[in-house]
Amino acid sequence: MHRQHVDFATEAGYRRHIAEGTVPCGACCDAHAVEMANWRAHRRTRTQPRLRSFADHPIQYRAAWDGDEPAEALTPDDRRRLVMDLHDLGWDDERIARHTRQTTYTTARIRGQLGLLPNPRPGQQEGVA
Ligand SMILES: [Zn+2]
Repeated sequence: MHRQHVDFATEAGYRRHIAEGTVPCGACCDAHAVEMANWRAHRRTRTQPRLRSFADHPIQYRAAWDGDEPAEALTPDDRRRLVMDLHDLGWDDERIARHTRQTTYTTARIRGQLGLLPNPRPGQQEGVA
């Protein structure tokens, strides 16, 4: 019943499904997933250097990096920078959360906003729950 439309399997098709209130077909969902992945990758490369280059408060940032201060003491940008830097070390959400004294939920939320995928927990096998 859902015939192939002219913008089938494209991001434009996906957006039109949403605009029209129709359930997106699988091919349009796939196109959307690719679009989102590209957008995240692009945003990551665009965001990182700016965040990296200077902390708002370098001394507090360093203390939080060392685990001496909670991430809560940092500005929102420095908190994102810290999560990004620790994520880059390969740390999983729980380890970052413990180190920064944030909840795992908050850590995962910030990481998600940065477009980063969670690092696997040590010993965790790919694809095994
Ligand atoms: Zn479609």
